[in-house]
Amino acid sequence: GLWWDRVGPATKDPITGVTESFLADSSPNKINLGVGAYRDDEGRPVVLRCVREAEASIAGSEFLESVSAAVSSKFVEESVKLVYGSDSDVVKDGRVAGVQALSGTGACRLFAEFQRHFHPDSRIYLPDPTWSNHHNIWKDAQVPERTFRYYDPDSKGLNFSALIDDVKNAPDGSFFLLHPCAHNPTGVDPTEEQWREISYQFKVKNHFPFFDMAYQGFASGDLDKDARAIRIFLKDDHLVGCAQSFAKNMGLYGHRVGCLSILCADSNQVGSIRSQLQRIARAMYSSPPVHGVLLVSTILSDPYLKSLWIEELKTMANRIRGMRTTLQDSLERLDSPPNWEHITNQVGMFCFSGLTPDQVDRLAREFHVYMTRDGRISMAGVTTGNVSYLANAIHETTR
Ligand code: PMP
Repeated sequence: GLWWDRVGPATKDPITGVTESFLADSSPNKINLGVGAYRDDEGRPVVLRCVREAEASIAGSEFLESVSAAVSSKFVEESVKLVYGSDSDVVKDGRVAGVQALSGTGACRLFAEFQRHFHPDSRIYLPDPTWSNHHNIWKDAQVPERTFRYYDPDSKGLNFSALIDDVKNAPDGSFFLLHPCAHNPTGVDPTEEQWREISYQFKVKNHFPFFDMAYQGFASGDLDKDARAIRIFLKDDHLVGCAQSFAKNMGLYGHRVGCLSILCADSNQVGSIRSQLQRIARAMYSSPPVHGVLLVSTILSDPYLKSLWIEELKTMANRIRGMRTTLQDSLERLDSPPNWEHITNQVGMFCFSGLTPDQVDRLAREFHVYMTRDGRISMAGVTTGNVSYLANAIHETTR
């Protein structure tokens, strides 16, 4: 037989499966709470006004090779200011080695490749649970993974003492992936005080923190507040890595705009690290596309467009927070027996509801409500129009 006869179908991504079932359902009441993409209160995808205006202003740009390099470095310069702070020492001293990446996924993969090249014996510690693709990314980059405890199903919050134990018990100098805000899938973030303790323990153990920043602005509505974990680590003089995505916070999903940055002890190291990251990228896809990155750098370097973006980001975050409150209130008004306080305690795009796989199946079968079997609700799919139907469906399946 042919060698590819041995190729069987790949395991379906859990989100793709949810979308397929949703699309196949003909009920007018159906709700898709699977996909982690923002929707407005009418359930429609959103193109931000700042993006439309930037689009108009770059129309007709010629994407020559020389333009591409300049756009890319301008983009990286503006992008890293968002995470580290525009007046931070690391930015002012030029200690950030940053490169454009294929959205958050590409930034993570590029880092994983870099990690294997330059620290071949290392592993990556991932939170339990985490975004499922983290496992695939480090696996395919041939970096072995370990997990550290994160979520506590009883409190539906953080298992902080277990997290700290796992940090303490990992070998010195381990790599840890941290979600700096709006943890996916749980919506559970450490408090400021807990971040300080985590940073302290990382210092003691000489661990390397890699921040996957996929939702900056979505937790609190404020870019700086959502970066506070990283700022705490900076204050403690950590060298960190960071993957940034503009998919969610600028609504640029398909444009694949991201940035990977690695802090260096001094500016002399920056050129080496950056050139190695570019070398790894060159063998995989040469260079990333330039259009989306030109949109982002146009927005970030224009004070009017940037403030428009900040307003629109706040609007998105506030709509989601409002829906958390309404969903919780609606369940409480129905006298739903379980405690639903975690709906508003959790932050960002997702609510880790605590619904069991059986309850999730029943919600789909009887109520046309679709979500992943871990009980993760994408709050972006909840609207003024469907929230009471949803509350009732959840109430009926959990009573
Ligand atoms: N990290 C996390 C935690 C995510 O949730 C996502 C998006 N689902 C990503 C990274 C990557 O997203 P993208 O590649 O679309 O930027």
